[in-house]
Amino acid sequence: MNDLPKTSPEIDKTDTTVGTKSRRPSPRDVMPEKDWSDYRGILIVVEQRNGIAKKVSWQLLGEGRRLADKLNTHLSALVIGSNVSALAKEAIYRGADQVYLCDSEELKDYRTRPYSKVCLTVIGQYKPEIVLMGATYTGRDLAGAIATHLPTGLTADCTQLDVDEQRLLLASRPAFSEKMLATILCKQFKPQMATARSGVFLALPLDPTRDGDIIPIASQMKEDEIVTRVLDFLEQNDYVSLEDQEIIVAGGRGLGGPEAFALLQNLADALGGVVGASRAAVDAGWITHDHQVGQTGSTVRPKLYFAIGISGAVQHVVGMQNADMIVAINRDPNAPIFKVAHLGIVGDLFTLVPALCTAIKAQKDGQESVGIAL
Ligand SMILES: Cc1cc2nc3c(=O)[nH]c(=O)nc-3n(C[C@H](O)[C@H](O)[C@H](O)COP(=O)(O)OP(=O)(O)OC[C@H]3O[C@@H](n4cnc5c(N)ncnc54)[C@H](O)[C@@H]3O)c2cc1C
Repeated sequence: MNDLPKTSPEIDKTDTTVGTKSRRPSPRDVMPEKDWSDYRGILIVVEQRNGIAKKVSWQLLGEGRRLADKLNTHLSALVIGSNVSALAKEAIYRGADQVYLCDSEELKDYRTRPYSKVCLTVIGQYKPEIVLMGATYTGRDLAGAIATHLPTGLTADCTQLDVDEQRLLLASRPAFSEKMLATILCKQFKPQMATARSGVFLALPLDPTRDGDIIPIASQMKEDEIVTRVLDFLEQNDYVSLEDQEIIVAGGRGLGGPEAFALLQNLADALGGVVGASRAAVDAGWITHDHQVGQTGSTVRPKLYFAIGISGAVQHVVGMQNADMIVAINRDPNAPIFKVAHLGIVGDLFTLVPALCTAIKAQKDGQESVGIAL
């Protein structure tokens, strides 16, 4: 922690205005020979909505802690919003050495310009060598706006992060229709930026004994300078966000049609979980894409994952292999899913799933033991 920045550093005079009409410098304009050695530390931008942080932010703090320790540098978090000071504390408990807190009424809801101005101000003043945020809709928008303005490189949607001995961020993400993993380096510019998928990294457990500075940052725009207004949030009632779920009951082509998803819904309801799916089931039109798990769907890390009538193709497995407990039901004893399952049941899903539901409900109702006839 030898290079922890002072709490009130000199302000960098770099222009951090977003959206000016003059031509933005292209990377070639500012290219070589710049000395970036004053850029140190890792910054995680914490995403929140209504004061609740996205899980991916805490997961990135966990991974950021690992990278910062490897680089022997400090880990910072940036919390932006309104009435979000509790999140700043939580960021310290989750691994940050210090937190920049920009807490202001006009920052209640995410809007690109006011949020990116805060980020640019913090980056300009504190000069992190690496900036990470979640590959959510908001994170992708914000990271793109910042990287374009600075300008620097941005590797989106990463599934692996590391650093090398030259302090370069090794940002890996699926490429070429998700068939390969490409590792992308940003050698010429700082900060090195990446967004990362939810469910890939592990959050550190809360440690309330951890201590760190919370540094207030002023909001950079007044409400009347912001051209966009958030009038309302319309929740899409049937939209499923798999990434934050603890129990997922996923079905595949083995279900044979959309009707069988009702069986899985029963099991999910009995367990207090949600329904997931393989791409084969989604492509067949049996269920919507927000339920899809895998390389081109969600990456999940639930406590319990049921793979039912799913063969275990690699593109599915990469999205669920980090679940704490994987239970596979498949009638083919040689199905590859059994290689990643902690518990494998060979049998017909149309017999097993209703029997499981009955057993779980009976146990909830206090009956002692209920056998499942295979
Ligand atoms: C670029 C690319 C990206 C992809 N991204 C994804 C992705 O994000 N997610 C994803 O899932 N796939 C993805 N895929 C597709 C992937 O390769 C597989 O084709 C897909 O996962 C197969 O789905 P499935 O396991 O449901 O179907 P299948 O492979 O057809 O397996 C069906 C299984 O059901 C079993 N079964 C059948 N009937 C029963 C029964 N009555 N009881 C019990 N078991 C039964 C069978 O034994 C079989 O194992 C991608 C492919 C590519 C090329």
